[in-house]
Amino acid sequence: MADEINKVVILGSGPAGLTAALYTARANLSPRLIEGNEPGGQLTITTEVENYPGFEHGIQGPEMMDVFRRQATRFGTRFMTGAVTEARLGKRPFELMVDGKMVKAEAVIISTGASAKLLGIESEKRLMGYGVSACATCDGAFFKDKEAIVVGGGDTALEEANFLTRFVTKATIVHRRDALRASKIVQDRARRNPKIAFIWDSAIDEIFGDPKNGVSGVRLKNLKTGATTDHKTDAVFVAIGHQPNTALFKGQLAMDEVGYLKVKAGSTYTNIEGVFAAATSPTACIVRRSQPRARDAWRRSTRSAGWKRKKPAGDDFAHMPNFILRGLKVRAARAHRRA
Ligand code: NDP
Repeated sequence: MADEINKVVILGSGPAGLTAALYTARANLSPRLIEGNEPGGQLTITTEVENYPGFEHGIQGPEMMDVFRRQATRFGTRFMTGAVTEARLGKRPFELMVDGKMVKAEAVIISTGASAKLLGIESEKRLMGYGVSACATCDGAFFKDKEAIVVGGGDTALEEANFLTRFVTKATIVHRRDALRASKIVQDRARRNPKIAFIWDSAIDEIFGDPKNGVSGVRLKNLKTGATTDHKTDAVFVAIGHQPNTALFKGQLAMDEVGYLKVKAGSTYTNIEGVFAAATSPTACIVRRSQPRARDAWRRSTRSAGWKRKKPAGDDFAHMPNFILRGLKVRAARAHRRA
């Protein structure tokens, strides 16, 4: 494997990575996909996904990722278990160390996503997907007429609490300080919402419940006094920020202060030719947002790997799904009529 030069190596096996795999595989680029530390990505830590088109009755997150994976496999994606520990993007072909093994690539698609920061307590891990969630948009609707706690004091926490009040009778924001980090406008909206309450200077010590019956309450610790109190709740939403999984590329790829990769506006190009970024958002919303990006990365990587040059002009659409082709034809016909 050390001597093999892959046309495309995809890093990450969430929706963006698997979409890139599907498209590059269908372009006969025989992609190699490195699954990373969280195979399937963050959708594997959610339960039911109800808002993905095509799954009329919803689908479990892990099952959905299994379907994505099988679809990518069907067209020849080669999966590799393991995580990249080192990336040498300053030389050609690119070199990636995957658990001690060298993988070479002409083009690299980075879809390593981001990981939701978690509290790190045992009960949070045990009840994740059973009343504990890091995504209100994904899981909020499951708590209709129930109560929820949202942890955090930033924009995400307040937005999540606001969103949750469409379903829950009460959303209580638990924040470790007595001042919010969120922007003023978001704060004002949350404070005006009669269904939102605040508990200040507090952290969750323990979440009560079990996977069968879900969450039943939390033990809160006041960080100023040390006093602990128990609160009843049906759900805990952890919204304390996300960490993009890009530490590996520091010093090689341009990124912002948080670690999100910088791409050329409207594209998936990073600052290194042949290296593409194909994931934007860390929540289940990535399903919506990252697919066009992954497809875009696929298009650019086929060019980068020299594939397009070998094809006759106009064949760029040969591997596009029929429904996209049909849409293109309809739009072309409309434009023709308008002209
Ligand atoms: P932030 O980093 O802004 O906020 C994280 C919050 O979680 C902080 O209040 C922090 O507390 C708290 N926190 C961090 N770690 C812990 C911990 N271990 N235990 C308890 N609490 C913890 O992240 P966000 O996801 O809220 O926002 C990220 C970025 O996205 C921001 O720039 C934000 O403005 C932007 N955003 C904008 C939105 C909008 O405009 N509508 C919506 C969502 C996000 P402390 O304050 O004490 O550090």
